[in-house]
Amino acid sequence: MKNELRLNEDRLFPSDPDQRSIARKLYAEVESLPIISPHGHTDPQWFAENEPFRDPASMLVIPDHYVYRMLYSQGVPLESLGVPATDGRVVEQDSRRIWRLFAQNWFLFRGTPTQIWFHHVLHEVFHIRERLTPESADRIHDRIADCLACPEFLPRALFERFNIEVLATTESPLDPLRHHNKMRSSGWSGRVIPTYRPDPVTDPEFEGFPGNVKKLGEITGEDTAMWQGYLRALFDRRRFFASLGATATDHGHLTAATRDLSSDACETLLKKALQGGITPEEAEEFRGQMLTEMARMSIEDGLVMQLHPGAFRNHNISLFRDFGRDKGADIPMRTDYVRALKPLLDRFGNDSRLSLILFTLDESAYSRELAPLAGHYPALKLGPAWWFYDSPEGMRFFRERTTETAGFYNTVGFNDDTRAFPSIPARHDVARRMDCAFLARLVAEHRLDEDEARDVAIDLAYRLAKKAYKL
Ligand SMILES: [Zn+2]
Repeated sequence: MKNELRLNEDRLFPSDPDQRSIARKLYAEVESLPIISPHGHTDPQWFAENEPFRDPASMLVIPDHYVYRMLYSQGVPLESLGVPATDGRVVEQDSRRIWRLFAQNWFLFRGTPTQIWFHHVLHEVFHIRERLTPESADRIHDRIADCLACPEFLPRALFERFNIEVLATTESPLDPLRHHNKMRSSGWSGRVIPTYRPDPVTDPEFEGFPGNVKKLGEITGEDTAMWQGYLRALFDRRRFFASLGATATDHGHLTAATRDLSSDACETLLKKALQGGITPEEAEEFRGQMLTEMARMSIEDGLVMQLHPGAFRNHNISLFRDFGRDKGADIPMRTDYVRALKPLLDRFGNDSRLSLILFTLDESAYSRELAPLAGHYPALKLGPAWWFYDSPEGMRFFRERTTETAGFYNTVGFNDDTRAFPSIPARHDVARRMDCAFLARLVAEHRLDEDEARDVAIDLAYRLAKKAYKL
C-alpha cells in the first residue's frame, strides 16, 4: 500500500545482527511492563472530569510545543495553529483547518523524535495504517475525531489502556489541587499525583512574585513577608501536596546555583524581592538559597527533589508578549553544577535521606560534572536525558557518558515530561528500546552477561523510577 504507516518491530535497535538479536530478547522482557510516569505536565482536569478530548487538533497539536516550535521555525504563525494568545487576538478554532496545515508541514518532522512519537500514536492509539500527508489529512482527522467520541477514548479509559501505574502532574503551591481532590474522592483506581513546583513563589523574577507570596500567606495563614513565616508557609503547602499523594518537588531554575546564607541575609533578600528593586544577582542568591531550604525540608518530609536548570526561558520576547510562557521558545544554556551545587552539598550532600535528582540541557556536563557528582554524593541521582535530548541520540549519549562513572543505579529510569498525553506510551517505548540497544552492545562486547542485562533492563524501564520517586 502506498503511504502505508508501519512500525518496524526492530526500530531503534542496533543494525549489527548479534546486537539486534540480544536487544530483541531484552526488549521482550520490558515491552509490556506498566508505565511509571514520575514527572510530567498533563492536565489533571482530564482525569478528574473524564470528559472526551474535544477534537484532534486540541488533543494533538495545540498543547504540544515540540510540534508548533518546528512549524513556527518555518514561518507558520502560531495563530493559524490555534495556540491561544494572551492578548485576546483571534486564533484559528477549526480543528480540521489546523490539522490540514499540520499535515502540509508534517515532512518537517522527518528524523525527529516527534515523528517517532506521532507515528506510534497514530498506529497504536488510533489504529491508523496510512501516513499523514496533505491527501490523507481529512481521513485521518475524521478517524481520530470518531475515536474521540467513543468511551474507549475517554481520558481514564486511555490511562488504563496505556497501562499507567502512576502519573505525576506538576502544580504551583498556590494551586488548590481541586482536580486531584476530586479524582481521589471519585473512587477511580487510577493513580494521578501532584508534584510541588514552587517556582512562582521561590523565584523573585517569576511573573507576579510579590502577589504570589502574598497569596501563599493568605492560603496558609502565615506572615509570608517574614522569612520564618514564608518558610513555614512553603512547608505547609508541601504537607498539603503530600496529603494528596505527592512524592516529589521540582525546581525549574535558570542555573543550578545554591547558597547557604545567614537568616539575616535571607530576611533582607525576601524584603527586597517583595518590595521590588531586587537586582538580578540578588534574585540568583535568593533562588540558590531556596534550593538549600527545599533540600532541608526534603530531609524532614521525605519529598524527592528534582532540579531542571539551564533553560533560557521565553527567549523570543515578542512571542512571550503575545502568547505567554511555554510556547517552544526556551533555549538550552551552558550549565555549571560542580561549583553551583557546592553550598547545598556542603550541608546535605552526605545525607542519604535527601534524594536530589539532577537534569541537564547541557550535554557536555554529563561526563565532566554530573556523572562524577552522582557517582560520589549519596544525596544525588541523575535524571534521564531531558527535553531536547529526550530522543534516541540523546538517550544513547546519556548512557554512554554517564554509565562508566555513575553506573545504572545512580540514575532514575525514564521521565516522559510531557503535556501530550497520547504520546506517553510512545515515549516510554523509545526509552525502553534505546536502553535495550545500549545493554545489547555491552552484552555483545562481553562487558555484561545477558542475565545481568535483563535485570538492568527491567530496572531501567520500571523498578528504578518507582524506587527513586518513592512510588
Ligand atoms: Zn517538566
